[in-house]
Amino acid sequence: MSDGPGSGADIVWEAGSPGLGAPAGTEWETVIGLEVHAELLTRTKLFSASLNSFGGEPNSHIDPVCLGLPGTLPVLNRHAVELAMRVGLALGAEVRPSIFARKNYYYPDMPKNYQISQYDRPINVGGSLELPSGKVVGIVRAHLEEDTGKSTHVGGAGRIDDAAWSLVDYNRAGVPLLEIVSHPDLRSAAEAREYVTELRATLLAVGASDGKMEEGSLRVDANVSVRPLGSAEFGTRCEVKNVNSLRSLGRALEYEARRQIELLSSGERVAQETRHWNEDTGRTSPLRSKEEATDYRYFPEPDLVPLVPDPAWIEQVRSELPLLPRQRRHRLAAATGRPPARLALVVERGQDELALEATEAGADPEAVLKHLEQNLADGTGRLTAAGLAGLITMEQSGELTSNQVKEVLAEMVTSGESPATVARRAGFEAVGAGELAGVVDRIIAEHPAEWQRLCAGDDRERKKMQGFFTGQVMRATKGQANGRDVAALLADRAGA
Ligand code: ADP
Ligand code: MG
Repeated sequence: MSDGPGSGADIVWEAGSPGLGAPAGTEWETVIGLEVHAELLTRTKLFSASLNSFGGEPNSHIDPVCLGLPGTLPVLNRHAVELAMRVGLALGAEVRPSIFARKNYYYPDMPKNYQISQYDRPINVGGSLELPSGKVVGIVRAHLEEDTGKSTHVGGAGRIDDAAWSLVDYNRAGVPLLEIVSHPDLRSAAEAREYVTELRATLLAVGASDGKMEEGSLRVDANVSVRPLGSAEFGTRCEVKNVNSLRSLGRALEYEARRQIELLSSGERVAQETRHWNEDTGRTSPLRSKEEATDYRYFPEPDLVPLVPDPAWIEQVRSELPLLPRQRRHRLAAATGRPPARLALVVERGQDELALEATEAGADPEAVLKHLEQNLADGTGRLTAAGLAGLITMEQSGELTSNQVKEVLAEMVTSGESPATVARRAGFEAVGAGELAGVVDRIIAEHPAEWQRLCAGDDRERKKMQGFFTGQVMRATKGQANGRDVAALLADRAGA
């Protein structure tokens, strides 16, 4: 929904404006601002006591308040307010006294004929989100509102126009939502995906939402415009709706930017409108234009008092925030000397604590990260930091070959045992120095003719015989001798 005070004047393309009939070869920049709706993880609805839970028998989580029956009054859910504050504080927003407003429009899935939302006095104002790349995206506001019910249009193409009849499920009506509005700071589809990924991780970290795009608990409306690269003014934007996954978001934005560039390049203008993303055709199509946009006739909700959280409560919520993904990237960056962008994957998988401890236990940070990134994509199971550090020591001292390291690591993940225990059981123990010398001497004694050729032969002959003896030693030790040690012993015995 388009709500909230405008935060950037739209540019009307006039004859002579840059971009109108832009010269061939003009480079274009995409500008994106996102409105993300997150369902909050409360037990009950925003203004009533029925359950906030996904799915369930249609119309089984309903009550007179969320159905808007006459004579009912909303009672604000304290936990929803706390979750909204957690998100706001995590984004560095200012938590302000706020006012609920009625946003009036008619739709069957909204039985009151208005939605209770926040308009000119939202609870969270300002803030920003730092992406793994280091880019900082400004946040305009993050306000509370109630979700609508769900309509299913039966017959025709599933849209209301040509449906034979419609079904309404009010289980979702009144579920608390936080709408998080970004500044138009994003510059590509990839960056928009990175933003949603980071925002989702932040919502999950503070326990505000489950972030399930596939269940609609995280929904994205994407505003996109294009402008000639270097232009200081924004182009006319379109708002794209019905984007239900990160992949669709990327596709929809790329399609929409290309469509607008083609229009402007051929001398036409972009009409400011809301467009519908069609997953099957891979296109957007007009839904409604700004001119025919609904006037929501906002006014303060008379049944609710202003929301003025006690400053002590705000400070308590702030002090209870967990470490955020951004902070965890920076913490690991400080410990490993690697850039935060490189560490996003490890943090995303929740493996940063292990990486940190293994590094603090003295393991080589690069080796720690390499194992986490390449060999532990499916999780670290029962692997301990000390175990990983120990394994890396064995790897780097040549006690284990790289194939053996992988095998031992996989075993450690399931058993939680130490690398030494696993390596011993697998028979991967490196042959000790004394034992190896004995093996080398025995093999020399068993092959006097070959040994003679090694000692007296020319370079080629010596090389060939070294290979022969090394092979024999490896066979005798089942491949567990260190090649360097064998070469040194052979050289020593040959008196070279
Ligand atoms: P409205 O009140 O019509 O919804 P807003 O000013 O609140 O408009 O902006 C809604 C979203 O659109 C915000 O996320 C904002 O960043 C984005 N936006 C605004 N102008 C542009 C633009 N020219 N190009 C791309 N996105 C924009
Ligand atoms: Mg808006």
